[in-house]
Amino acid sequence: MLRAIWLLILLALGVWAALFLRQMGGIVEISVGQTFIGIPVWLGLLALVVGFVVLHGILSAWKSIRGLPARMRARRSERQRRDGDAAVTRALVALAAGTPDQARTEIRRARGLLGDTPHTLLLTAEAERMAGRDEAANEAFRALVKREDGKFLGLRGLLRDAMQREDWPTAQRLAREAEAAQPGAQWVKAERAALALRTRDWREALALSPPGQLSGRRRAALALAAAMQEPEPAKAASLEKEALSADPRFAPAALAVAKRQAAEGSPRRAKTTLQTAWTVAPHPDLATAYLGEEKDALARVKAAEALTHDNRAHPESRLILGRTALAAGLTGRARAELETLVSSGSADRRAYLAMVDMDAVELGESAAGRAAEAKWLRAAAAAPPEPRWQCLSCGTEHGRWEPVCESCGTPGRIEWTGGRAALVEGAGTPKDGTVAAT
Ligand SMILES: [Zn+2]
Repeated sequence: MLRAIWLLILLALGVWAALFLRQMGGIVEISVGQTFIGIPVWLGLLALVVGFVVLHGILSAWKSIRGLPARMRARRSERQRRDGDAAVTRALVALAAGTPDQARTEIRRARGLLGDTPHTLLLTAEAERMAGRDEAANEAFRALVKREDGKFLGLRGLLRDAMQREDWPTAQRLAREAEAAQPGAQWVKAERAALALRTRDWREALALSPPGQLSGRRRAALALAAAMQEPEPAKAASLEKEALSADPRFAPAALAVAKRQAAEGSPRRAKTTLQTAWTVAPHPDLATAYLGEEKDALARVKAAEALTHDNRAHPESRLILGRTALAAGLTGRARAELETLVSSGSADRRAYLAMVDMDAVELGESAAGRAAEAKWLRAAAAAPPEPRWQCLSCGTEHGRWEPVCESCGTPGRIEWTGGRAALVEGAGTPKDGTVAAT
């Protein structure tokens, strides 16, 4: 509306100017050589305006004709892009539907239309992989690696493949390259941590797991495993301490720390370490280490008393006190400890076998002795088995804690299992359980 008003005003002004010029009169003179042309001013102005419009029209038409091939090219590539995008979408749908052959056909079409872009290469690789053609998939990933914008995607695909093939040296090289291509990528970090576990590079696995992500037990196990690999004593010692502080209930860490302290000439500190560990979570290996060099039977009783002082009522404490007292011939003392243990209901097979030994000492080859032996042996058969180091993956029993189960190759699954304490813990009352929480 506003524009129409303006147009009307302009038109009126034009008409008024034309009339005014006509009234004014006047002539424009053009002289070429001897020839003079005289035309009225209004006609001259009209000729100028018409000339301008015609010239503008000619120039516009020329420009339009010159740009025609480029426009046709642009239209064609636009059409190709549209068709290519549609083919990519169809390939994605085929991949999602699990029909790799159709996905391969569509992605080949898309590649023909769009060329080798990171998208088409990645989809090619995924389709080939789904079709079980790993070599073709890797070829697409290698093409991606050569591109600056697709390098990480390509490395990721190749790394995944290398890990599937369990080609660890290649996987490690690719992980390093991926890290360089995309520093700080969470995925690379997680893959490198998994790789470190697979290649048993515990130190790397420990370094790659962010604090707070691992449970105390996992961190303790990794740190202790790293300490076992570490050739430098100072570093190994600090890793052992790290393991113990990550999980004070992890007996192998306490044993390692105490062993090193004893080797460094501090047997007193070693004993304190073992005592502290026993107070937190008693474990027969701690007692073995604590009583280790002591040969005298009475001195062993004293040592057992010192070790168990702060966790006196624990089944493991009663068991070690009863056994050492029995070995020293203190049968009254042994009977008191073992009977309390047996009547508490938290005894495992070891306590009943100790009762067999005790009655053999006290009653000898009498009829009462034989009856007692039979009774305790029956009770032992019905009692929970003694706890042991066992792989939770394959069930293999191990003489001691190891970072990896050599039977099934699973890292970090050997745990202290079984015994009454495990049953008690399973029932939800984990007070001072023999089995450290995992
Ligand atoms: Zn195993």
